[in-house]
Amino acid sequence: MKSRKLTSSPVVTGQCLCGAVQFEMEYPAFWAWHDHSRASRLAHGAVYATYVGTWRKRFRITAGEREINRFQEKETGAVRSFCRRCGTPLIYERTRSRHMINIPRALFQSRTGRQPIYHIAIEEMQDWAHAGEPLVPLKGYPGVFCRRSKKKRRIEARLSASIRSRCS
Ligand SMILES: [Zn+2]
Repeated sequence: MKSRKLTSSPVVTGQCLCGAVQFEMEYPAFWAWHDHSRASRLAHGAVYATYVGTWRKRFRITAGEREINRFQEKETGAVRSFCRRCGTPLIYERTRSRHMINIPRALFQSRTGRQPIYHIAIEEMQDWAHAGEPLVPLKGYPGVFCRRSKKKRRIEARLSASIRSRCS
């Protein structure tokens, strides 16, 4: 068996919004995924959370350990850690995989070695999530984009439905 020093692996770093908590993870991550579950949606205050998963031993808090608070979910026993100064979600530990931890992808300053190609709880995906629909600039508001009008989308939906019925 090969022996390997922990410090020999390249690391990627990340932090919370206020910067009090800093961490590093050995590169590359094990996997990355989008989580559409209600619990992650609420914990992040966002339509879904994107996580990078790695082995616990490949992750280290390098500053601000004392600023980390933990919250345990009653139903699942999962533990979510967050910065008590700025509220940034930091670590998500699921009971079914105790040797792995999950860190919000957004907290890393560089690439993590894994693209989030997996989706969890996709059946809970919200209908207000942006799913790559075409966007157009909003007149009079530079930098603001919006979905095309409902009327145009309805026409497109009707067209594609009639195409589907013709093809089936
Ligand atoms: Zn913070």
